[in-house]
Amino acid sequence: MVSRIIPVEPFDLVIFGGTGDLARRKILPGLFRRYCDGQVLPGARIIGAARSEHDDTEYRQFAADAIREFGGGRACEDGTLEAFLENLSYVTTDARGTQGWDELASRISNDGRIKAFYFSVGPGLFGDLAERLHSYGMADADCRIVVEKPFGRDLASARTLNATLAAHFNESQIYRIDHYLGKETVQNLMAVRFGNMLFEPLWNSQYVDHIQITVAETVGVGGRGEYYDKSGAMRDMVQNHLMQLLCLIAMEPPAKFDPDAVRDEKLKVIRALDPVEPHHIVRGQYDAHAGQEDAHPSYRDAVENPRSSTESFVALKAHISNWRWAGAPFYLRTGKRLAARSSEITVVFKDTPHNIFGADAGRHRNVLSIRLQPNEGITLGVTIKEPGPGGMRLVDVPLDMSFAEALAPDGEDPPDAYERLIMDVIRGNQTLFMRGDEVEAAWAWTDPIIAGWEARKEFPKPYESGSSGPTDADLLMQRDGRKWRGVSP
Ligand code: NAP
Repeated sequence: MVSRIIPVEPFDLVIFGGTGDLARRKILPGLFRRYCDGQVLPGARIIGAARSEHDDTEYRQFAADAIREFGGGRACEDGTLEAFLENLSYVTTDARGTQGWDELASRISNDGRIKAFYFSVGPGLFGDLAERLHSYGMADADCRIVVEKPFGRDLASARTLNATLAAHFNESQIYRIDHYLGKETVQNLMAVRFGNMLFEPLWNSQYVDHIQITVAETVGVGGRGEYYDKSGAMRDMVQNHLMQLLCLIAMEPPAKFDPDAVRDEKLKVIRALDPVEPHHIVRGQYDAHAGQEDAHPSYRDAVENPRSSTESFVALKAHISNWRWAGAPFYLRTGKRLAARSSEITVVFKDTPHNIFGADAGRHRNVLSIRLQPNEGITLGVTIKEPGPGGMRLVDVPLDMSFAEALAPDGEDPPDAYERLIMDVIRGNQTLFMRGDEVEAAWAWTDPIIAGWEARKEFPKPYESGSSGPTDADLLMQRDGRKWRGVSP
């Protein structure tokens, strides 16, 4: 299958934090891949901006190294990389001072081309950048800003940040990025739901028993310990990524595939979430990996805080109080240092109302699995007769749609989430970006959960590194007669 790649219009993109980890691993390699595919055309101006002193040549070398390491094996030797690097330049810029801003303003064109500013810096600098873009005359009505996560650490800080950005930019100019929404599978979730007649009539609590959303990581906090210890899994993962996935699963069909129509429906889902009961939520914190304490220390050793009460794991049961979902719970689970790296949404349908095959048939349920990683794809488990002359024995088989094979038969990786999202910024399409009111509503639901833990002085339950999390998380399901889909290596 040959995908149609339509080039985006010429643009100027300033990457604030252009020397940082995100620029190195995702933004620069992503732009290069879009260039290789002819989506970014020669003449695009990509300007790195950060405090460290570099000239254009040094920055191009930095970008070349990043692309060789993280470019996904794209051809770097046939002159394409050199041609791409011609589009790059660098301005030493201090987000909190005056250095670099006049130079930056002089490099940004006033020839009507698209202008985008990627805030790939710590959230403490978002306000400084917005104010300086305005005061140096770069914040015109057509430009766009891309804002990285975390967007606030609670409702109050998210409101303040929204207000700061709103002082200089309209909502239509603000692209709050959640890279989960840029994944092929997540967009396909909407295509599968709203482009087929098959699923939507069954997509409610009459036919769906429950839904599980798991985002499991094998890594620990790594070098992010200082940040993570002030944040935890609830703020770092649940409030944004898991909530966004929940919204896409649970939302009503929008009237059209238009940014505000989609985001209006997502917002209604968040607002319909019931507060979470304390006994419907489990927090965990990982212990060292037995026998591998040096390589895989405990969470507290990793963050160098022996009394830390920050959670590296959360499992919870959520209810959406509306006609569609009353009675069908959503189980959300995320954690670090778990047995496998796996992000998956599972829609577990109810049993058939009457089993004509007798006791031997066992219990068979249709399960729709939407895998975000690894091996992005969608699988529908259906029940068939076990082949052969053994009588009417039933067996569950998967109807598998693996995107990697279906859409990239030559084995090339499909575009990374960041690539798509940056192209959407240039195209001016906000559908896959969070609106300010959505972010605030998500914090309004999350804040009381965190406040409850603090008020009750609750410590997270320890769990073994390389396991599937604290046993209490399993009990959360078992109490309801259900079980988690395995997080297996
Ligand atoms: P990082 O590696 O610490 O890089 C920060 C960047 O900001 C550097 O280029 C730094 O360069 C620049 N910077 C710091 N202070 C500055 C100032 N006063 N003026 C101008 N530039 C300044 O951080 P990162 O991992 O790239 O993350 C960037 C943002 O993306 C953060 O908000 C993070 O939460 C978010 N994010 C990152 C990832 C990831 O995988 N890395 C994933 C999701 C979200 P100088 O020190 O030279 O100024």
